[in-house]
Amino acid sequence: MNIGTQILILEVPMESFFGKSTIYPVLIKDEDGLTLVDTGMLGQLEPLRKAISDVGEDISRLKRIILTHQDIDHIGNVHALLDLLPNIALLAHKDDIPYMTGERPFVKLTPERINLMDAALKQQAEDMVRRLPDLRFAHILEDGEHLPYGGGIQIIHTPGHTPGHISLYVPAQKLLLAADELRVVEGELVGPAESATPDMPLALKSLDKLTVLDVDKVLCYHGGYYDQNVQARLQALSQTKE
Ligand SMILES: [Zn+2]
Repeated sequence: MNIGTQILILEVPMESFFGKSTIYPVLIKDEDGLTLVDTGMLGQLEPLRKAISDVGEDISRLKRIILTHQDIDHIGNVHALLDLLPNIALLAHKDDIPYMTGERPFVKLTPERINLMDAALKQQAEDMVRRLPDLRFAHILEDGEHLPYGGGIQIIHTPGHTPGHISLYVPAQKLLLAADELRVVEGELVGPAESATPDMPLALKSLDKLTVLDVDKVLCYHGGYYDQNVQARLQALSQTKE
């Protein structure tokens, strides 16, 4: 699915410990190449590559990757992509970068959790953790920052799901790329998953930053596209905490 001419929504089948689902990374098209927002689940580069070719693009045109946060289903293929294209620039929020470079242990992907994985995934997770110190971030993002891609993107720091979680606002399209701050579950827009959100009160507080945006469509990494009365729904969600 395309939003305008520059925002392409990818549909990537994912297998994880929770079973099969679909995730929705995004490709942003500019003259100088493609920006990918999130990379999919660890060890699952091929479904990502296929989803990119399904929208008529080629993985070799990737110029940069914006990582919305440190979770394994978002950063999972970053090393595989860098192996293919060593010059890709990485961007992420300053509060999640120390986890992605191994300076701090992942908030959720703990050694205990890795030990519970099946042998193949465990090996991949251990390899990834070992390679984290090699990751170099070309651009350290901050709340409110504007990026020129896709006609203009604003970074919205939405901590809670992880400390440096970001959502991306595309004003020209009235579009919010919510990452994991919002989900679509059974056709309804809902807040972040409690089981995967260590600081739920903070994540709910982060919703306040979204209610002030002029948006009429949202893309959630889990659950996909939502365009019914978005602002009223965001308002209602942000009030549930009070
Ligand atoms: Zn996720």
